Amino acid sequence: MQVPIAIVGGGWAGIACAVELADHGLPVVLFEAARQLGGRARRVDWNGLAIDNGQHLLIGAYRESLRLMTRLGTANALERRPLQLRMPGYRLSLPPWPKPLHLGIGLLVARGLSLRDKLAAARFMRHLRAAHFALPNDMPVDELLARHDQPTNLIDKLWAPLCLAALNTAPAIASARVFCNVLRDSLAGDRADSDLLFNRADLGRLLADAATALLLQRHGEIHPASKVGGLSRIAGGFQLHGPELSAERVVLATHPARLPALLTHLPELAEMAEPLSNYTWQPIHTLWLRFARPIRFPFPMLGLGDGQAPWAFERNDIAPGVVALVTSADGPHLHLSAERLRDDYLTLLAGQLGALPELLDWKAIIEKRATYSCVVDQYRPDNRTPLAGLYLAGDFTAGDYPATLEGAVRSGVECARHIIAEPK
Ligand SMILES: Cc1cc2nc3c(=O)[nH]c(=O)nc-3n(C[C@H](O)[C@H](O)[C@H](O)COP(=O)(O)OP(=O)(O)OC[C@H]3O[C@@H](n4cnc5c(N)ncnc54)[C@H](O)[C@@H]3O)c2cc1C
Repeated sequence: MQVPIAIVGGGWAGIACAVELADHGLPVVLFEAARQLGGRARRVDWNGLAIDNGQHLLIGAYRESLRLMTRLGTANALERRPLQLRMPGYRLSLPPWPKPLHLGIGLLVARGLSLRDKLAAARFMRHLRAAHFALPNDMPVDELLARHDQPTNLIDKLWAPLCLAALNTAPAIASARVFCNVLRDSLAGDRADSDLLFNRADLGRLLADAATALLLQRHGEIHPASKVGGLSRIAGGFQLHGPELSAERVVLATHPARLPALLTHLPELAEMAEPLSNYTWQPIHTLWLRFARPIRFPFPMLGLGDGQAPWAFERNDIAPGVVALVTSADGPHLHLSAERLRDDYLTLLAGQLGALPELLDWKAIIEKRATYSCVVDQYRPDNRTPLAGLYLAGDFTAGDYPATLEGAVRSGVECARHIIAEPK
């Protein structure tokens, strides 16, 4: 009988790791502090409606997430649409042509950008492509854009909203290196990579429910409401505290803010824990609205303005008339009262869609530590730690992506592959 592999944290990273291990016939036991799995991408109850803690968006380049959902049989809950960015007075659509023609033509016919903007964007992308989207040294996104003479209107309408949406960090401090990775795999990737994938099931149905069923079927153990308080070394492995368990191999897949406390009794990892405790965080604000009847959206996602303005998502799949408005990162919106922000956003929405039906209900969810600030030269630890048998998974570990579902899933799969490859 094999000793199970302990996974601490049942967000998308921990789940991806558990499924990959179970698929290779390895026993897993997963501890999750909350009552349900999903972490920062989970189902929330809203007066009997199953909504998401925050509106999420996936893109075609999320290969590992798509592979996982295909494996679990939930990928058909994603609605795939060729990229369109629509805001008042601006529209960029990518036609179904091969790269890089799709981007060139998309930019050429974009509305709301001047010829100067379009040429500057094309020049910038050409330069990055020639450099394989790699920068010799990191710098803030703003600085990279300034070095490439990107006009203000182009920044406000294209680069800043993309940076905020993908990195959840303002361009003034966001890492240009990570931003370039995002551009490489989205706008400059194959046309299908830039497709937008809208979840048409709540996030619990998209991943956690199906993963739970699969893991239980594979005799895996899942322990919700089980917070691991720490771990220490014992002969041949580790001892988990809180729920007590000894295991030869442990994957820590918690939110990065929780890691330093978990590592307290492992002085060998002090060098890794210290920079993690210097992380700073960015919030995401989601305003859920329920109208008396469905609103017709010309596209499921609409920008309500330049820069940091919210994006509106049509969510009739949850219930007819449900709309989610998402605002990325820190900003002045968080200092307004919930009612004032709701009213401001309703005005913006009406400005785009015309008179709105009666508002039946609303709910604001602020995730204060939605992501780490994706800043210049951000420290990102490897999935393998200096201690044999101890691994780290999560959106913050080393990788090309910012804090995203795909970053989390990739890290979980990567940890599982290291474990699978270990000599027996
Ligand atoms: C509102 C919002 C909107 C977002 N939008 C997008 C988007 O559109 N697209 C996108 O790609 N990404 C988006 N993200 C980011 C994405 O949700 C995260 O990157 C991803 O979910 C992180 O997964 P994770 O498994 O690495 O970490 P987490 O989800 O944080 O999972 C860690 C888990 O560990 C558990 N845990 C912590 N401590 C312990 C302990 N001591 N013992 C046991 N369990 C513990 C936690 O409860 C949690 O369930 C968004 C995030 C938020 C919050």
